[in-house]
Amino acid sequence: MRKTLSLKLLPSEAASELIIKQYIAQSASVTPSAVTGYIPLKQSIDARGKQAWIHLSLEAFINEPFREREPGNFVFKDVSRAKQTVIIIGAGPAGLFAALQLIGAGIRPLLLERGKDVRSRRRDLALLNKEAVVNPDSNYCFGEGGAGTYSDGKLYTRSSKRGDISRILQRFVHFGAEEKILYESHPHIGTNKLPQIITRMRQKILECGGTFLFEKRVIDFGLEGNLITSVKTADGHTFHGTAVILATGHSARDIFELLLHKKIGIELKPFALGVRVEHPQSLIDSAQYHCLTRGDFLPPASYSWVQQVNGKGVFSFCMCPGGIIAPAATSPGELVVNGWSPSKRNNPYANSGIVVSIEEKDVQAFKKMGPLAAMYFQQSVEQKAFASGGGRLVAPAQRLVDFTENKFSSTLPGCSYLPGLRSVAMEEVLPPFVQQNLRQAFRDYGKKMKGYLTNEAVVVATESRTSSPVRIPRDPVSLQHPQISNLYPCGEGAGYAGGIVSAAMDGERVADMIAVKYP
Ligand SMILES: Cc1cc2nc3c(=O)[nH]c(=O)nc-3n(C[C@H](O)[C@H](O)[C@H](O)COP(=O)(O)OP(=O)(O)OC[C@H]3O[C@@H](n4cnc5c(N)ncnc54)[C@H](O)[C@@H]3O)c2cc1C
Repeated sequence: MRKTLSLKLLPSEAASELIIKQYIAQSASVTPSAVTGYIPLKQSIDARGKQAWIHLSLEAFINEPFREREPGNFVFKDVSRAKQTVIIIGAGPAGLFAALQLIGAGIRPLLLERGKDVRSRRRDLALLNKEAVVNPDSNYCFGEGGAGTYSDGKLYTRSSKRGDISRILQRFVHFGAEEKILYESHPHIGTNKLPQIITRMRQKILECGGTFLFEKRVIDFGLEGNLITSVKTADGHTFHGTAVILATGHSARDIFELLLHKKIGIELKPFALGVRVEHPQSLIDSAQYHCLTRGDFLPPASYSWVQQVNGKGVFSFCMCPGGIIAPAATSPGELVVNGWSPSKRNNPYANSGIVVSIEEKDVQAFKKMGPLAAMYFQQSVEQKAFASGGGRLVAPAQRLVDFTENKFSSTLPGCSYLPGLRSVAMEEVLPPFVQQNLRQAFRDYGKKMKGYLTNEAVVVATESRTSSPVRIPRDPVSLQHPQISNLYPCGEGAGYAGGIVSAAMDGERVADMIAVKYP
């Protein structure tokens, strides 16, 4: 017999298979030995009350042999002699998932990635953190796996409209992610585990006959009528394919400039910009779990908030419990911060972006840059942040209460950001409307979460790569660019995704449309 059950468990109980089997037995009026196993279907934490509870729904096997969860069903064809080759520019989640989906449809993907493979990329990240050397082709945003490789690997999306989330999660499990991402309400993989998963994806693409080339920065397109006929890379090579998937992410400013230069339509897109705030993790744990210490059975706590201040959205972004603040600039002379966590989320700090929405009316000073106005606004703030930190990627910072009271911080607390912090007045860095909205939002949220508004927390500038400041238009059905019929703008950089899962879903969607057009 199989039985679907919902259990409300103490965190310590949820960690014990034996206890869970006892609950199943009790509910089915059988002995625990009759329970041969169970498959978790959904798991979430309810920490609203004084006692945190784990809600677990599961399918139990009683008096019948236990059967493992059905694996995802993915087709991998030999595409080495396929009649169609599709060029994919960018090997982030959008590009990688597009490649795997094309393989399933019998189309050969040719991936061109400006950065390096995950192992070589790691060395550049070490240089970035220790020596403040920014390699414009190999950094936290560029390289195999894209911006998501050295991230927290949070795998959820605010939009379920874009496609089948569980299929993306199953793909990750297929390539080595833990099965728990299939049922946890806030699944994440962790920076230490993502590179191996990405490597296995690449190996599969190669094994099926696809091509995967690193250090191939695309710098030009050959155009004939309404078609891209060739793609050129910085090292002088030219590539040809039936269609081109452009999945270069939100930081490929040179690609946006190239499109503008080639008169291939692009549009300004609202995005968000602000700071990253870091608290001691223990403080967030106490506030969220209503306890002095978290104990062994609950994960490091997270938070998220969104509110309107002066008619503008202010929201938390990419919160990393037990995480690290990372330097995420893609060019020298800019300062960008982001966050990541290892799978255990066992660092002593909790960081989160807190950002203000930026619309066209906010970037009027850059109006003459046309559709790139928001991008140049973003870059100008990053350059101010770099200058304000004094160079070497030292980040401008202020204690949180001091920031809200517009006071200089004479000292700064410890922080996970390796290149270091410099105490500044944020007026040097952030536009006045961003500062004002952030100040108000922090004050308001401080009333909601006990202990949040504290000078033990530090505000670090600037969190600016939240989403793309440019949209590359495409037909909503065929997903083709309106001017170039074999160009498929894809993923976060084109403005159709925000995060790993939605970028991956968009990659699959674009590949499906290509497979329909070029069978
Ligand atoms: C530090 C950090 C932490 C993050 N944490 C999370 C998280 O926990 N969860 C989450 O959902 N999202 C997270 N994100 C965001 C997430 O990584 C992105 O939303 C996602 O990777 C977007 O996927 P994409 O494929 O559209 O673009 P990207 O991942 O940006 O990939 C674009 C790729 O294109 C390549 N490229 C760019 N220009 C060229 C060119 N000219 N020629 C050839 N190749 C080029 C780049 O090198 C890159 O590999 C994080 C991002 C960062 C930087």
